[in-house]
Amino acid sequence: QQNMLEVSNLTTTFTSRKSTFNAVDGISFHVEKGETLGIVGESGCGKSVTSLSIMGLVKPPGKVSGKHIRFDGDGIDLLHLDQKEMRKLRGNEIAMIFQEPMTSLNPVYRIGNQIGETLKIHKKIKGIEQKDKVVELLKLVGIPRPDEIFYSYPHQLSGGMRQRVMIAMAMACDPKLIIADEPTTALDVTIQAQILELIKELQEQKGMSMILITHDLGVVSEVCDRVLVMYAGKIVESGPVKQILQNPQHPYTKGLLASLPRKGESHKRLSYIPGQVPAPKNWPKGCRFSDRCPYVMDQCYVSLPPLFPISEDQHAACWLVKEEGREADVKHETVR
Ligand code: SF4
Ligand code: MG
Repeated sequence: QQNMLEVSNLTTTFTSRKSTFNAVDGISFHVEKGETLGIVGESGCGKSVTSLSIMGLVKPPGKVSGKHIRFDGDGIDLLHLDQKEMRKLRGNEIAMIFQEPMTSLNPVYRIGNQIGETLKIHKKIKGIEQKDKVVELLKLVGIPRPDEIFYSYPHQLSGGMRQRVMIAMAMACDPKLIIADEPTTALDVTIQAQILELIKELQEQKGMSMILITHDLGVVSEVCDRVLVMYAGKIVESGPVKQILQNPQHPYTKGLLASLPRKGESHKRLSYIPGQVPAPKNWPKGCRFSDRCPYVMDQCYVSLPPLFPISEDQHAACWLVKEEGREADVKHETVR
């Protein structure tokens, strides 16, 4: 099996003085080698917590558990690495691109030195060799006059250029897997398109695996091969992007699609999904989408639907799609 990542029953638990809740609630998925997997949903659905959990970046008292998070074949289980082993992987074999480069770049270091530091830590590349490699990386991500930009500070660059720097830093060690969390959300629309194009190009050129986290199904349709739709800590639908766009089965996916602008419309349309994602402490007892779902039935208030197969590679967690002969896929079901 050629999976770059295999996540099984991932659960991320946070505890406050008053309550304990699972921000990510028993999800399973995989990323194939060379594939771009989108994770889509509104904010508060557990997308970012999923990525932080994979990267070992959930801070205590947050707790990550599950069956396994296998990375690159069955050799490494990220769930069982200690902090030191995880630091060795992060930025090296698994890299991240965040939404806001200003918070991830150190304001007092020159761009070139920050990228160089990654090369030094993980690859022991120093001196003139390091500088050459950094300039090469800046070129790779389309930064003009890389020899000059090398000496710039983050605040001297535009948002788009800073995001290119972040991408250069992520690419520095030729990672096997890149996790990009809302990489274009903070940028102007035209810049967004350019950055997405760059990410897509690099992914194809290097044959990396990628997880792209976004609230925007439009972004998914541009860049991803497959997509997971998350709602309230669960995967509610998954499948190949084309299939999901043409034949969405979960009412939440349908709502996300309906709120995309159509061709010729410059602005996002009003959300077709009234209401908000409930906070974990307010999750309804049955289907977590029940208080917003236009198709809600009695059964939905009582029990949480598991993922049902629609076809070999598409699944949806909705009682509507449960039909005679469609057995719940136990592989995807939460083990409680
Ligand atoms: Fe709507 Fe019921 Fe399906 Fe949930 S299970 S999405 S409430 S129809
Ligand atoms: Mg997020």
